[in-house]
Amino acid sequence: GILDAGSESDAELAFEGALRPKSLGEFVGQTKVRGQLELLLQAAAMQGRSADHILLAGPPGLGKTTLAMIVAHENGRSLRMSSGPAIQHAGDLAALLSSLLPGEVLFIDEIHRMARSAEEMLYLAMEDFRIDIMVGKGAGATSIPLELAPFTLVGATTRSGLLPNPLRDRFGFTAHLEFYDDAELTEVLRRAARLLGMPIDEAALTEIAGRSRGTPRIANRLLRRVRDYALVNAKDADLTSVRAALDLYDVDPLGLDRLDRAVLRAIIDRFDGGPVGLNTLAVSVGEEAETIESVVEPFLVRIGLLSRTPRGRVATKAAWRQFGGRAPQPTLL
Ligand code: ADP
Repeated sequence: GILDAGSESDAELAFEGALRPKSLGEFVGQTKVRGQLELLLQAAAMQGRSADHILLAGPPGLGKTTLAMIVAHENGRSLRMSSGPAIQHAGDLAALLSSLLPGEVLFIDEIHRMARSAEEMLYLAMEDFRIDIMVGKGAGATSIPLELAPFTLVGATTRSGLLPNPLRDRFGFTAHLEFYDDAELTEVLRRAARLLGMPIDEAALTEIAGRSRGTPRIANRLLRRVRDYALVNAKDADLTSVRAALDLYDVDPLGLDRLDRAVLRAIIDRFDGGPVGLNTLAVSVGEEAETIESVVEPFLVRIGLLSRTPRGRVATKAAWRQFGGRAPQPTLL
């Protein structure tokens, strides 16, 4: 879907690639993280060594892949890309690690989904640039140590809490990426429009920013729909066009996507506003608990539609106003 930050067609991937910032200077927002990365990269460059391993945590579409590319690019290193789901056996990881060239940056997206059997190999690789390869089976099995070229691992995860502690501890630096505010998203959009050679006014940019779910990937995608609309209808990309284009695609004025809405509807309609436990909620909307917790909830909490309590998830008054008419009145005893 247009608002779904996680799924991409080939055309969308090419479009994203063209808009990706190539340096920390071009990367909008996340000021704190940018400063921290800058220091880390500069220190490594001055000492002529690989930078410390870096863990990037945050919901989809906030710039984790982009930052991994920048980490490589800023220090003139090449980047190798893989992902947790592609590493199903320790052997997959051994093949990947042993093929790295000195100083390369290895990006593992969704690192929390890597096979457990590969994790232990990764601990040793991160710490000592060495792995033990098991040869043979049963009583005759032996392990052969293999030296690796020094490398920088950049891991990405939707939530650092999903990683086992020993793995998390081996990253020299963990960055938690936050949702972007409207001013930052406007900046992302202004930059993208400039790169696309697309004239668009300030009111239009602000309107798109407000509907982008705090997420640059979604902002860029909405900009593309607006560009289509303006082109096909021979109109300017102004506020009127933006509203018409985004209404056509059912883009929520608050930036909520299908799953956000399903979660709020379920809490209000089926569980009377909550509290409802995470797993019950996940089953009722047919989604994995992990996705609800690390992708849906952070945004709903941030915009004040959901609160997490010790007894479960609760729809706020603002959510009732949006989705359920009136909040239930406290019962008089
Ligand atoms: P993630 O890996 O976290 O899912 P990406 O790094 O793939 O997210 O970012 C998605 C798209 O959003 C990129 O193509 C890039 O164009 C844009 N983007 C992300 N972060 C920024 C940023 N800080 N400034 C400008 N554009 C950004």
